[in-house]
Amino acid sequence: MFKKELEKLFELQEIDINIFDLEEEIASFPGRKKQMEKEISDALAKNEAARKEHKKLQLERKEKELELEGLETEIKKLQTRINEVKTNKEYTAILSEIENLKTRRTRTEDLILSVMDKDDTISVQLKKLSENHAKLAEDVALKIKEETEKNESIMIKLKDLKEKRKDIVPGINKDIYLVYERILRGKKNGMAMCKLENGNCAGCRVFVPTYIEEKVKEKKELVHCENCSRILY
Ligand SMILES: [Zn+2]
Repeated sequence: MFKKELEKLFELQEIDINIFDLEEEIASFPGRKKQMEKEISDALAKNEAARKEHKKLQLERKEKELELEGLETEIKKLQTRINEVKTNKEYTAILSEIENLKTRRTRTEDLILSVMDKDDTISVQLKKLSENHAKLAEDVALKIKEETEKNESIMIKLKDLKEKRKDIVPGINKDIYLVYERILRGKKNGMAMCKLENGNCAGCRVFVPTYIEEKVKEKKELVHCENCSRILY
């Protein structure tokens, strides 16, 4: 008689473990989805930062090139003027000014080269980041779609299991069910029943004394683990 009750309880336990696992999976879905979306937005942010840097360098290059043009014009102007000067003093002054401008020209040319170098590196990075982002966005969108569908099917499965549970519960002895239910609510893994394995409770791994083990074998009443209070079988 009690053996039969234990079997029914065991059937309920199987359903409850399933329900627990499915509920865990459903509960973790929003977090996982958010994490996936963050992967895309992080990649996009990196991409945008590189694009901004690229634009900035291009602007800087244009600016420096204009500056260089200005310096060239000025140098040319002074070089023409130097042929027309009358005094030595004026000649020296213009020559020194030309030298100054030439130094500035060299500095600007160096700057342009350095900006071009930086921009080359950024351009390569930008290309890679854009490709990365595009691929990631595609992959993650697919993954989210798959997971969303999976989540929906889990919800249906869960609903079915809960229906099944409702059908089973009335057939179980009420007192036994209440004990089971109380233990189940107190556990964090959906398990209110545990196997006795090599003298230990499979739920908490604690040794089960022989007199309890004997009672479990008799299958005449509910026997609990002294440590975690789960029903032993
Ligand atoms: Zn235990």
